Amino acid sequence: MAYVGGSAREQGCVFCNRLDSSDDTASLIVHRGQQAFVILNLYPYNTGHLMVVPHAHVQDPSELDAGTQAEMAALTGNLTRVLRRVLDCAGFNVGMNIGGAAGAGIAEHLHQHIVPRWVGDANFMPILGSTKVLPELLAATYGKIRAEIERDIFSMTNVRVVVLAGDPPGVVVDGAGLPQISLEPDVAVWKSVLSAFSDDFGSLSVLAWAGQPDTRTTGPSIPTLSLRASGQMESLGRFRLLRDDDRSALSITDQEAVVRALASIER
Ligand SMILES: [Zn+2]
Repeated sequence: MAYVGGSAREQGCVFCNRLDSSDDTASLIVHRGQQAFVILNLYPYNTGHLMVVPHAHVQDPSELDAGTQAEMAALTGNLTRVLRRVLDCAGFNVGMNIGGAAGAGIAEHLHQHIVPRWVGDANFMPILGSTKVLPELLAATYGKIRAEIERDIFSMTNVRVVVLAGDPPGVVVDGAGLPQISLEPDVAVWKSVLSAFSDDFGSLSVLAWAGQPDTRTTGPSIPTLSLRASGQMESLGRFRLLRDDDRSALSITDQEAVVRALASIER
């Protein structure tokens, strides 16, 4: 299964390079554990295609210690639960291609795929094949999954939201800061967020993760998602729209989230 990094000329191991990077949002790392991390596939077979990767640069599961194997198994269980909630998938393909002969795209660093499946999403799942055209942008998928994982890990009951509305985009605020939405148990973060604003805007979509880039420095903090509101703005209810020059009134945390949200629509 192919995994190609940001550059065709990338030197070294793409997994070790991502692990060493501090910008987990750019690297598509959604979670770092003790001995393994979780990364979204840049060229997914299906929406939400994750990989569980040991920190150790090894080719074969027999080279992993028992603790790492146990952590990878535990992560897999947690991730299938998270993915069901986020994506409403009906099943998964979970597995490893060990060695180039088995179709491993990056044989030198073991990785386990978790590919969400929906009934009728494909007639045949190729072991080696071309990637599919996906209906959702990676940045939005990344944001939805990371928000869900961090909500679980830190037992968060709120999510902070950057809603960009209008063109040029203004930022929706609630009182003196970015809106925070209460989360319901067993309802995906992004669904709670969309339903909270659905009366105020004609059209809404999740843009990206807008919290701290590095998963090592986020916790415990409130997950932050950015949304783009387009189409007819119905009303602003208890919210109001903040323009460019008023943003200095926001807290530093809120301002940083707004900057990240704006950067994600410019990409
Ligand atoms: Zn490696």
